[in-house]
Amino acid sequence: MADIIQLLPDHVANQIAAGEVVQRPASVVKELLENAIDAQASEIKLLIKDAGKTLVQVIDNGSGMSVTDARFSFERHATSKIKSADDLFQLSTKGFRGEALASIAAIAHVELKTKQESDDVGTQIVIAGSEVKAQEVVVTPTGTSIAVKNLFFNIPARRNFLKSNTVELRHIIDEFHRVALAHPSIQFSMYHNGSETFHLPISNFRQRIVNIFGTKTNEKLVPVNETTEVLTVSGFVGKPEYAKKTRGEQFFFVNNRFIKSAYLNHAINSAFDGLLKDGTHASYFLDLTVNPQTIDINIHPTKTEIKFDDEHTLYAILRSAVKHSLGQFSIAPVLDFDR
Ligand code: ADP
Ligand code: MG
Repeated sequence: MADIIQLLPDHVANQIAAGEVVQRPASVVKELLENAIDAQASEIKLLIKDAGKTLVQVIDNGSGMSVTDARFSFERHATSKIKSADDLFQLSTKGFRGEALASIAAIAHVELKTKQESDDVGTQIVIAGSEVKAQEVVVTPTGTSIAVKNLFFNIPARRNFLKSNTVELRHIIDEFHRVALAHPSIQFSMYHNGSETFHLPISNFRQRIVNIFGTKTNEKLVPVNETTEVLTVSGFVGKPEYAKKTRGEQFFFVNNRFIKSAYLNHAINSAFDGLLKDGTHASYFLDLTVNPQTIDINIHPTKTEIKFDDEHTLYAILRSAVKHSLGQFSIAPVLDFDR
């Protein structure tokens, strides 16, 4: 009998992993912005061309990489962020899987320029379809610039399934908003086809929300603040009379990471019970701080879902915190038997 099992070559494995990590240009935006944040950047610039189909570039003023690390960063499971499995339960970084750059480089043309503060010159790497085309010394500012061109150039089926520029740009802006809201102390700007579409100076959470969603948003924000043993909630909900027909302004952040949670969303809706007109949705911008040991982020490659140890308690705290805030601002009589 012949043996038929073989290990896949790296570039094939990378392309398979890329299928999960990179759905569309917006996925690249998320991964690159998160890497810039993990590199402690205080200024991050996002450059987009053709809704990301031809270019997604992120330029940061963070730590930069050494020559060796620059090359190594494109290997799969290569990360500076965790060392052991235990670290998975005390994550303080956005990244930890060491997959994004390897995946992106498998399905696009990538140009990396990076320099550390202590070095006079930096490194430039050009890589396409997991193949390094060039690596050379380059004069570049401290920090990192990664340009991702021609996404899915070698996967026509994926490229053809990209939506219109309007739709893809919408996804990019959504990701940009999520990351920018989670990090008001970092300056972000975004350019599409050469013109600046967002300029977000360093600010606090409230100002960041207003900078993104417009000055009128300011008066509709009701602060929410609650600290318990298991959870700190801070942020804002929108006054019920400003509720929208769309769900565009609903944001949960857990330890500075945007997450989706139908269950926690339900907690907010139930706090708003009876206050909203039919067919409208509450706005919320809520930052939850929990002990990293009580959550598991490693459920899905894109990390937008989290497993909580004690979801029911979070639900109850969140609901009562929001109810309390709505009641304090006496927006409407709120009968609250829970507190
Ligand atoms: P992860 O973020 O999960 O570690 P990535 O593939 O996104 O995996 O990045 C691999 C490594 O490359 C990171 O761990 C980091 O050391 C380095 N790196 C990536 N982007 C940057 C950046 N903008 N600045 C400095 N280092 C970076
Ligand atoms: Mg990363």
